[in-house]
Amino acid sequence: MRILLHICCAPCGTSAVERLLDQGHGVTLFFSNHNIDTRQEHDLRLLQVEKLADHFNTTLLVDPPDNEAWLKGVAGLENEPERGRRCAVCFRYALGRTAAKMEQDGYDGFCTTLTTSPHKVAPIIFQIGRELGGERFLPFDFKKSEGFKRSLVLSNELGLYRQSYCGCLFSRRVTN
Ligand code: SF4
Repeated sequence: MRILLHICCAPCGTSAVERLLDQGHGVTLFFSNHNIDTRQEHDLRLLQVEKLADHFNTTLLVDPPDNEAWLKGVAGLENEPERGRRCAVCFRYALGRTAAKMEQDGYDGFCTTLTTSPHKVAPIIFQIGRELGGERFLPFDFKKSEGFKRSLVLSNELGLYRQSYCGCLFSRRVTN
């Protein structure tokens, strides 16, 4: 399959890309992360994803960030905890843009590296993905089969920056 893979960050992308390539899929990375609170942090994470794309020789597409629009989308949910309702809106935002890009560019299906993280609730991501893309959403849970552990190993090997907070302003406040 020709898959458009939404990539939240390079560390989560490592084992996900490796797995899809091992299974014989064609993979294009889609960096669409309007949630990230500053342009500096966005570009730092993007730089790591560029390293990953070079390593696996995959195409990388970048969705220009608009954090203001994203903030409007989560208005009223600022005080939600991580894994709460704000995160579901955040997943829908990123997956909605990925589904639209898949349609526009004619990919066979799409999925997301968000499921590599043990902090993300895969069934919620899958439900949103199916609502947006039906059968063309591919419910890969990349943390399974030691996927998260493998992501740590590959991130170390590639010398990738591992961020200390999820991405939005609210997650930075909680961590700091
Ligand atoms: S904590 Fe992470 S998943 Fe939740 S809204 Fe913020 S950036 Fe999105």
